[in-house]
Amino acid sequence: MSVENRPEKKYQGIPASGGVAHGQVYLFVPRELEVPQYEVDAAERDAEVSRFEQALLETRKQVMEVQREVSTRLGEEEASIFDAHLLVLEDTALIDETIREFDSSHRNIAWCFHTVANRYIEAFKRIDDEYLKERASDIRDVSKRLLQNLLQASQSNILGMVKERIIVAPDISPSDCASLEKGKVLGLVANTGSKTSHAVIMARSIQIPAVVGIRDFTDQVDNGDWLLIDGYDGVVVVNPSEETLFKYGKVQEEKRALEKKILERSQESATTLDGHQISLMANIEGAADVDRIFSFGADGVGLFRTEYLFLHSDRYPSENYQYEEYRKVAEAAGDRPVIIRTLDLGGDKFPESSALNTQEANPFLGFRAIRLCLENTSLFKDQLRAILRASVHGNIKMMYPMISGLDELTRANELLEEAREDLRARGEPFREDLKVGSMIEIPSAAMTADILARNCDFFSIGTNDLIQYLLAVDRVNDRISHLYEPTHPAVLRTIAHVVEKAHAEGIKVSVCGEIASDPVIVPILLGLNVDELSVVGSGVPMVKYIIRQVNIEECRTLARELLDISDPKEIFAKAEAFHRDRLSVLLP
Ligand code: PEP
Ligand code: MG
Repeated sequence: MSVENRPEKKYQGIPASGGVAHGQVYLFVPRELEVPQYEVDAAERDAEVSRFEQALLETRKQVMEVQREVSTRLGEEEASIFDAHLLVLEDTALIDETIREFDSSHRNIAWCFHTVANRYIEAFKRIDDEYLKERASDIRDVSKRLLQNLLQASQSNILGMVKERIIVAPDISPSDCASLEKGKVLGLVANTGSKTSHAVIMARSIQIPAVVGIRDFTDQVDNGDWLLIDGYDGVVVVNPSEETLFKYGKVQEEKRALEKKILERSQESATTLDGHQISLMANIEGAADVDRIFSFGADGVGLFRTEYLFLHSDRYPSENYQYEEYRKVAEAAGDRPVIIRTLDLGGDKFPESSALNTQEANPFLGFRAIRLCLENTSLFKDQLRAILRASVHGNIKMMYPMISGLDELTRANELLEEAREDLRARGEPFREDLKVGSMIEIPSAAMTADILARNCDFFSIGTNDLIQYLLAVDRVNDRISHLYEPTHPAVLRTIAHVVEKAHAEGIKVSVCGEIASDPVIVPILLGLNVDELSVVGSGVPMVKYIIRQVNIEECRTLARELLDISDPKEIFAKAEAFHRDRLSVLLP
């Protein structure tokens, strides 16, 4: 059957990033590196061998660079794992056998190396000795790098080159997403993922429509198939009919008209009808986002996720590189506050290739964020010095992610003091009174909020993580995404508790997780006396509109009523009804 005659088919997934897109599929199923096989002319023999030697040299240089970097960042011991990689590149048996294979088969050298390396890998894997088994993975790692050099291929940037297609993938990582550009990619569909996976948060911030969590969707479509995706309701239609396209054209028109209306008022202040002012900030991933969030009417940057500076490459950004980036953000914001969060690598955010990219059974419960920084103190102090130096260029504050209790906060502050000492010794200026906050995203931090509040300047509640840890629901697992309930009474009570303890100690509380961008939840957060919201940039106009339509007292009454209800669905329904009543002007 031709594509045109195929009937349309509808799939329901998780609405991840709003917007409607219509376009052809680009199927992104990362595979093992594809190594072509072809015959090489005898006259080309020497040139082919010399290409191989060049690639060996180039690979050696790259491995040594990574090793040097890891050694300064993490110490000699971690760096020594790369000795084994260098040994592979000097292994005369492997090299000679590749050339013999080439001379006898007359096939291209990349293919010959691939064949010989695989032979070695299989042989090592069969040996009953843990040390020698490890050698198999060394050979695999190095041979992949060498083949990439030989073939001049890099899979990781492919997504950045996809134009005017809808990317369909089994899974999208934050570093994949970091290479996407708005306007080039039309939309995203993934087999897995959830509303709060970091890749999805990124898609929302660059306003690319996305639907995730459609199981095995990559098996249902082919490259070039036509798709329509509705990121508002999580619907994907394969081979949409004219009628469907017309219907969604209308949906898009209505949404755009609404967005335009809201956007027109986005520069007004975030003040309720009865005069209560809220700081409405936005989340960013880098300096490139700053102008956009101010055009949406944000009062400042409530969360700068600095780990995105680390996701693009296998090198850690130097202190100077980071300083320049933070300075750019501070200067672009002027007097407006910028809260820089220290590194939150780990969980679902890993650099493309790095010694920190450890395989763990439970990465969200593992070596992540402040835990990783407190062990890699030189990496952490580079960042602390960069933030301190940038503090003289604007209104910067800083906060630590994933604090689980006072010990970690104290240790992080000790390292901050050491970073200050380093700068004093260097004679570099910084603000002595930099305000330092703690994220509250782990239940133990929430339960000890009174203690933490006495030891920091502000709180920012990271509900994306707080919800997953409170409810034991992995935030990126689509199988259990129905259990990820922001209106669970445990969540509301925890927020209420944190705010109460913080206010008792005289510090302010922000919410910077995705629920702060949810128009239905915003009145509840206001009613729970949260002082500040930090939302996805494009969400600022809508959240501001809502703030301007409500009275703070009626929000408090709503929150009190909801705190007495045990059923998350009932809480949500009541909040939705409140929202509908106040915003009927906006609803169809
Ligand atoms: C959060 O957990 O709510 C948060 C804002 O941090 P992240 O989403 O980067 O983990
Ligand atoms: Mg978090």
